[in-house]
Amino acid sequence: MADDDYLDAIDYTKDTLDVEDFKEIRHAVKLQDVFRTYKFGKEEITALNGVSLVINQGDFVVVSGKSGSGKTTLLNIIGAIDLATSGRVFVMDVPINDYDESFRSTFRLDNTGFIFQSYNLVSTLTAVENVMFPMQLSSKNQSELRDDAIKLLEDIEMGHRLDHLPWQLSSGEQQRVAIARAMANDPAIILADEPTANLDGESGQMIRDLLAKLNEQGKTLIVMTHDEDIINRKGVRHFTLKNGELNQNV
Ligand code: ADP
Ligand code: MG
Repeated sequence: MADDDYLDAIDYTKDTLDVEDFKEIRHAVKLQDVFRTYKFGKEEITALNGVSLVINQGDFVVVSGKSGSGKTTLLNIIGAIDLATSGRVFVMDVPINDYDESFRSTFRLDNTGFIFQSYNLVSTLTAVENVMFPMQLSSKNQSELRDDAIKLLEDIEMGHRLDHLPWQLSSGEQQRVAIARAMANDPAIILADEPTANLDGESGQMIRDLLAKLNEQGKTLIVMTHDEDIINRKGVRHFTLKNGELNQNV
């Protein structure tokens, strides 16, 4: 059987695609010769320059690289937020580049959780409401969803701040709420873009420990960061991006 033949057997016509329907998921992420170019006036910027990468389920992958090297672009393509200009992008064995935005947004909610440098919480929603926000596709009622969100916040020791608005929380607490929100739909893959860059030592350490704990629980982690304490963690696969080209560090 050719490497990708079994993909033909998957029913992509369904409204939602539950990866648990797949008999066998082989790779969390597979990128084949991915390019992303931006047109900027007359200039063409190559943000990703032929990136190939295979990430297995349960891997803890860290990508570092200077500002402008393509980290956010790479993360957004894996997270089905952005589209590759060319190349193949498989996430949980699904070729996500081949589908329309409606499929991609559902896929994104089901399979990936995003953590950002500046937390990106909705400023008018409380901690628990922020965690409930991505649960919109669930068939559960609001009070069940609220209970689920509270459980996620309690898991990261934020049970005492449920009804606080983002501005009423410290930076570290906001990032913990963002981690609970990333876990809202129990995704297989957690994507983090410089998650500790805005945090002081102590709250940075708490976020590092939480990320490591998620990986120990089986989540696939893909983290863009310069944070040496994350890069040097045991078991981490470290890559470097330079001018859109990805290399593995050994
Ligand atoms: P990083 O996250 O490593 O700082 P980015 O992925 O944000 O890098 O950007 C990679 C390159 O692509 C940079 O040169 C940046 O200026 C360029 N770029 C990113 N987004 C756009 C865009 N929407 N339009 C034009 N150029 C962009
Ligand atoms: Mg960036």
